[in-house]
Amino acid sequence: MHELGIVFYIIDDAKKAATDNGLTSVRRVTLDLGEVSGVVPDLLQDAWTWACRREPMMEGCELEVCEMEAASVCEACGTEYGTVAYGRICPACGSERTHLLHGREVMIREIEAY
Ligand SMILES: [Zn+2]
Repeated sequence: MHELGIVFYIIDDAKKAATDNGLTSVRRVTLDLGEVSGVVPDLLQDAWTWACRREPMMEGCELEVCEMEAASVCEACGTEYGTVAYGRICPACGSERTHLLHGREVMIREIEAY
């Protein structure tokens, strides 16, 4: 399960950040999640709840997910557009020479611990 792997990775990072700062309890983690990251937020929350119960430092820790809109750029005309709405085809000129600017990120933005 993809989401569980991500959760373990986030928990490791959060625990390390807390420990490095002499803190023992992580209360909240804020995560930036790209629209086309392939991660399902609901599944991520379920995996989070499950995994946090097994980690004393993470008990009751909240996961806040900030979904980030995906954007692509057209190499033919330079237009930036929403990836989810138009996919690989540029809405301005119809070119398929486009690439993703952002939207695949799975990144910790903030960790709150004490
Ligand atoms: Zn274009």
